[in-house]
Amino acid sequence: MVCNETEPKAFSDLSRLGIHTITTKPWSLQECIFEYERVGVRGITVWRDCLHAAGIPEARRMLEQSGLEVISLCRGGFFPGATKGERQKAIDENRTIIEEAAAIGAPLIVLVCGAQPGIPLADARRQIQEGIATVLPDAAAANVKLAIEPLHPMYADSRSAINTLRQANDMVEALADPHVGVTVDVYHLWWDPELKEEIGRARSWLFSFHVSDWRTPTRDLLNDRTLMGKGCIPLRQIRGWVEQAGFTGFVEVEIFSNEYWSWDQREFLREIYSAYLTYC
Ligand code: ZN
Repeated sequence: MVCNETEPKAFSDLSRLGIHTITTKPWSLQECIFEYERVGVRGITVWRDCLHAAGIPEARRMLEQSGLEVISLCRGGFFPGATKGERQKAIDENRTIIEEAAAIGAPLIVLVCGAQPGIPLADARRQIQEGIATVLPDAAAANVKLAIEPLHPMYADSRSAINTLRQANDMVEALADPHVGVTVDVYHLWWDPELKEEIGRARSWLFSFHVSDWRTPTRDLLNDRTLMGKGCIPLRQIRGWVEQAGFTGFVEVEIFSNEYWSWDQREFLREIYSAYLTYC
């Protein structure tokens, strides 16, 4: 069902289109770079599975030789743990991720902050804040920023205890460090009645912006995002709020979809390009 009432109208600036490698998951990093560039995409967010498959030195070489700008590395986080040992393991892992980001010239790491069944959400949030505070000096030393990405509350069981932009903004204010900010992902936040105000509040630390659309009915809680314009997210309105807050970075297409991953990826990329031009 299409419930987006926005009238299609081409106005988007292609120089701001970025794509996450997970969006075209069947492709290797090499294929992503080649195919994105071929259609005029300018930015890439690299997911770690894709990075590790390529190997970090080779990934760095390919990215440096490409005309693509590396927007961010996805993803760090998952700080909560039932024991001190588990939490330390997460901190060590995040330090590795910071090294990887620096190695490929990614200026930003997106944090899916973590949650675990059995850990109360308020405790998980404290553990997240402690975890970020612990790795922030490493991020600063590597000249890498960290973006807290609030996740839709349907993921509060096992992926993130940070579920609203207000919670993320509160944490950024508490951490008070220029290397920590937020990512606004429309898929996670479109429903929030405080979204406009909280985007305005994030104006000094809004580090990245992710787009896709919400399919109705959703057939899978994780891997059923849809193309922009095919769902009910008011994309242009949210992009407007983000830009009113002074954001001038990439509009990053991040679609997890079992359906689209089964398509010919070149055809999917053409659809992404067209949807970006028409609906974003
Ligand atoms: Zn995202």
